[in-house]
Amino acid sequence: MHQFKVVVLGAGGVGKSALTVRFIQDKFLEHYDPTIEEAYRRPITVDGETSALEVLDTAGAEQFTSLNEVYIKAGKGFVLVFSLTQEASLKEVDHLRKQIYRIKGDTGGSIPIVVVGTKLDLVTEREVHQNTIQTLASRWGLPFYETSAKRNWHVSEVFENLVRQMRVRYPTT
Ligand code: GDP
Ligand code: MG
Repeated sequence: MHQFKVVVLGAGGVGKSALTVRFIQDKFLEHYDPTIEEAYRRPITVDGETSALEVLDTAGAEQFTSLNEVYIKAGKGFVLVFSLTQEASLKEVDHLRKQIYRIKGDTGGSIPIVVVGTKLDLVTEREVHQNTIQTLASRWGLPFYETSAKRNWHVSEVFENLVRQMRVRYPTT
């Protein structure tokens, strides 16, 4: 069976833990300790094949990017999270994306990455237009999902997409 390490990265408060816990435990946590960093395990069946996922929900502030480096080296797939209600959080995604390519020594776009906008349910607080993120994602050559951990919208699709990418990139893992 494939065993894949997935790292969830993004600015503080964007909903990394909520997304991870929705996927792993199918519940929504209104108040999750922002300093908690935890690795979860779960099998996932995609296209009739089951893989073992380890999902690391990171909690590092930007000043701890040296820790990110350790995670990025170990990770096979990456979920880059921003909040649809916070335009500034997109910048961190761009920064992380570049950091991943630099650390992995690969700019060819073969690293499994999914970009995720969270809090889709907070319609009146939305700051990031769909056009903005669509344009960025196509420039970056990365798949993109708008999600809500609260309502459980499109959360599983994120991880399924990543699993498909990781199977292509790491067929023997
Ligand atoms: P993290 O610091 O990136 O891990 O962010 P958290 O997962 O702790 O979420 C930060 C805040 O945003 C918490 O109050 C969450 O309840 C809230 N939140 C996260 N995801 C969603 C969502 O999809 N919808 C709504 N309405 N709130 C969310
Ligand atoms: Mg968190």
